[in-house]
Amino acid sequence: MKKASLLLLPALLWLTACDQPAVEPTPVTTSAGARVAAAPTRDDHLALGNPSGATASSVFPTNYLLVKPQYSGSYHQAKGTANWVSWHLSQAWLGSTNRQDNFRPDASLPAGWYRVTPADYVGSGFDRGHLCPSGDRTGTAGDNSATFLMTNMVPQAPNNNQRIWEQLESYCRSLAKAGNELYIVAGPSGSGGSGSNGGTTRTLASGKVTVPASVWKVVVVLPVGSGDPGRVSPSTRVIAVRMPNTQSVSTRGWEYYRTSVDELERLTGYDFLSRVPVSVQAVVEARVDGQSL
Ligand code: MN
Ligand code: MN
Repeated sequence: MKKASLLLLPALLWLTACDQPAVEPTPVTTSAGARVAAAPTRDDHLALGNPSGATASSVFPTNYLLVKPQYSGSYHQAKGTANWVSWHLSQAWLGSTNRQDNFRPDASLPAGWYRVTPADYVGSGFDRGHLCPSGDRTGTAGDNSATFLMTNMVPQAPNNNQRIWEQLESYCRSLAKAGNELYIVAGPSGSGGSGSNGGTTRTLASGKVTVPASVWKVVVVLPVGSGDPGRVSPSTRVIAVRMPNTQSVSTRGWEYYRTSVDELERLTGYDFLSRVPVSVQAVVEARVDGQSL
């Protein structure tokens, strides 16, 4: 035991010298039995899986893998939106960079594909709604800018985007600041939303952008640590929501829209948490989060 403590001393001194997060991270126990503080890191966005088996090949225009340092996703060329975007959230991604607001086409899409522009949404009654939020990428201007690519946007009813969707985003950041790390996947479903112009709208920009009927999100919450796919257990908190893409969602909190991952898997045809053992998926995906806020 004494030997182990001496071996850990340099590591402890190093940790003390580093910038420490404002919130005490969850202590982890090493194999030697000593407790050291786990520092939040920036982890693989797809550590828990690639829900639709997307690949970075232009021969798959309906399930094209987008890989960026700040998030990963699957893009649907004909819909003009992502199928889903997935990102890791911990305090290691959070800083003090201001919102860059530089909405722009994604030049990384294969040559010849239509690149959705910010103007395609203007006057539509729908917000350019982030999947990976601006507020989750505030470490550097470059990180924040990446969230303003149009491949990270879906046409979202303002009351959805600015109220319940935003409330859940803020809640997720509060969990990260409390010593957790999160794996989040979000995307659109169906077509036909109702924005601030009223009525039902199926597409924008002469059919180039599909307006979803609902938006959904899966959030896996783990205490900060490493080896994340192997740490998801039957007791791990998993939050799943599905919110209608309409203006009438304003009076309810995001928690009203909780559902199960199984329900979202049926809706989308994707397999979430595919790198988590099937026996664990079976438990956490069937449960509807009921934790009080
Ligand atoms: Mn981790
Ligand atoms: Mn699954």
